[in-house]
Amino acid sequence: MSTTASEALFARAKQVSPGGVNSPVRAFRAVGGTPRFMASGAGAWLTDADGNRFVDLVGSWGPMLLGHAHPEVIEAVTAAAARGTSFGTPAEPEVLLAEEIVDRTPVERVRMVSSGTEATMSAIRLARGFTGRDKIVKFSGCYHGHVDALLAEAGSGVVTLGIPGTPGVPAHVTADTIVLPFNDPAAVDVAFAEYGDQIACVITEAAAGNMGVVPPAPGFNAHLARTCAAHGALFISDEVMTGFRAARRGHWDLDGAVEGWQPDLMTFGKVMGGGFPAAAFGGRADVMDLLAPIGPVYQAGTLSGNPVATTAGLTTLRLATPEVYERLAATSTQVQALVTGALTEAGVQHVVQTAGTMFSVFWGVTEPVTDFAGAQAQDTGAYTAFFHAMLDAGVYLPPSAYESWFVSAAHDPEVDSAPLSRLAEALPVAAR
Ligand code: PLP
Repeated sequence: MSTTASEALFARAKQVSPGGVNSPVRAFRAVGGTPRFMASGAGAWLTDADGNRFVDLVGSWGPMLLGHAHPEVIEAVTAAAARGTSFGTPAEPEVLLAEEIVDRTPVERVRMVSSGTEATMSAIRLARGFTGRDKIVKFSGCYHGHVDALLAEAGSGVVTLGIPGTPGVPAHVTADTIVLPFNDPAAVDVAFAEYGDQIACVITEAAAGNMGVVPPAPGFNAHLARTCAAHGALFISDEVMTGFRAARRGHWDLDGAVEGWQPDLMTFGKVMGGGFPAAAFGGRADVMDLLAPIGPVYQAGTLSGNPVATTAGLTTLRLATPEVYERLAATSTQVQALVTGALTEAGVQHVVQTAGTMFSVFWGVTEPVTDFAGAQAQDTGAYTAFFHAMLDAGVYLPPSAYESWFVSAAHDPEVDSAPLSRLAEALPVAAR
């Protein structure tokens, strides 16, 4: 497989962009080698600058629910762009997309933004404005974008105030961030016993997808919702990754809708942008109506609700019928079976974990992973070898062991089986 064109582009990119990329994990640092510069995508397939084709199991990190360049999405986006790419005024597509989100989820009001990071940042500001409190609770291993206050790592002990996880974030910015172990209701109780009247909100990934896929234990999210309600704090469920992906109405459909609880605020992104920069936060009307221009909590954006991006998202969601989710679930299950069958045959210890249609593989572990410490115990070296063997075989996997794998409605394990069947050949490499 020639990589000459990708190598040349990477060399040029490094001259003009830090690390040659615009988002760190794209640089292949975790797995080594040259990132493939993609030139086009169609359905389940990507083609790189050298003309190599890959079955794509990353899906732009989640958004490409229908596959690449879905004809109806492209047609709608082309027509929207021809009408004008940005007006800086309200426009119909953003209303239609907000209605679609309100229809599918428990939120009553939606505010559009341009990235998941903006969505979580704004939701936290709103929670602090609503409650008049400063402290926030997050869970280790959960990623909510590169919001300063959320780039915090726990120190020792069950309940610790966060210390910055990166240079550039002042200590005082994370001093009000409490970082707790995921799936640990007792730690939540300890934090609320100590700081309950100072906590503005708890934010969690509805199902964690950024430490590999780690679903919430049954009742964990319900416990968060009820604990927040008991202490006058808000519960923010981050569905940027899981929203309209894990299931048609998001992960909440598999959890709160069944167990009978609702988040106060939710954040969305990825799928709802249909491959364009669109995201949103939403929730209870009485909380959301505190936002400017009705209320005093300021939040704004030049390109928020952009007509082309919201058209892409709306068209994607309208095409994402219950039948599409049934197909996604079936494909996801088939790919999981292929992986786990081949791994088992090759004698590679592993655990496959799912959250709706999302899944990931934990390497070299024998027990289900329930938190970040468990996720970090995996053998990432085995994944690196496997990743490169699959890349050479024409399967594009996430360039890190700590990421979810995504299928699309365009994937067909029967048709795409040639490269997928190379799993079996790639696995002895992982077995080492
Ligand atoms: N929240 C979650 C759960 C995410 O997975 C991500 C991104 O992966 C974000 C927030 C941030 O979204 P963005 O990358 O669009 O800023």
